[in-house]
Amino acid sequence: MHATQSLANRIEAVRERIARAEIRYGRAPGSVQLVAVSKTVPVETIASACRECGQTRFGENYLQEALPKITAALLQECAIEWHFIGPLQSNKTQGVAARFSWVHSVDRLSIAQRLSAQRPAHLPPLDVCLQVNISREPGKSGVALTHLPELATAVAGLPHLRLRGLMTIPAPCHELEQQRLPFHALRAAFDDLRARGLMLDTLSMGMSEDFEAAIAEGATLVRVGSAIFGRRA
Ligand SMILES: *Cc1c(COP(=O)(O)O)cnc(C)c1O
Repeated sequence: MHATQSLANRIEAVRERIARAEIRYGRAPGSVQLVAVSKTVPVETIASACRECGQTRFGENYLQEALPKITAALLQECAIEWHFIGPLQSNKTQGVAARFSWVHSVDRLSIAQRLSAQRPAHLPPLDVCLQVNISREPGKSGVALTHLPELATAVAGLPHLRLRGLMTIPAPCHELEQQRLPFHALRAAFDDLRARGLMLDTLSMGMSEDFEAAIAEGATLVRVGSAIFGRRA
C-alpha cells in the first residue's frame, strides 16, 4: 500500500493528518511545521518533494551524508532549510554550523559553544533546540530535566545562536494516551523556561508514529521520515 503511493500522495497525506490534528486538538491552523526527515533518501527524491510538493524543510542526522546533498547542484534552486537532528560530536560542529539553519540536538554546553564560535559571520544566528531525555532512558542523548534550566540559560547567552526551544525523542509506544505523556512533560518544561523569561517558540516533537500525540500536546514542529519516504532499509 505504502510503496505504490506516490511521494506527492504521501506528503499530502501527512499534511492532512497534521491539519486534522490541529483542528481536533484546538491548535491554530498552520501552527505545526513539517520537517521531512531525509536520512538515507537520495537527492533526486528530495528534489521531487521540493519541486512537486513545495516541501522546503528537511532534516538530516549525519553530517557526512548531508553535505553532498546540501551542496548538490540539483537542490540549489530549491531554497531548502536544512535541520540537523542527529547526535552531534564536537568534530562535526564546524560543518553543521556552516551548512545548517537549525540544530535540534544540542544537549551540552560545550557543543553549543563550538556551534556559536564556528557559525560563519555572514550567516544569521543558528537556530537551536535543546534535546531533552524526557523518558529518562539511560544511555540516550539529551539533557536531563534537572539540568535543563542551567543549560538553557547558558545557551541563550551565546552570541551566534538563537535558542528557539526544546526537542525530544521519547521511548516508542503505540497508545495515543501513553504517547502524550512524555510530550506533555516536555511542554511543561518549555512553559517553565518561558516563565523564567526565555523567549522560546519551538517544540520539536513527534515523528511518523506519534506526531498526532505531539500536536495534541503543543508541538510546533514535527519531524517525519518514514511516513513520507517509506521504511528505511
Ligand atoms: C529518523 C528521525 C526522525 C523520523 O523518524 P520517522 O519515524 O521515520 O518519522 C525524526 N527525528 C529524529 C531525530 C530522527 O532521527
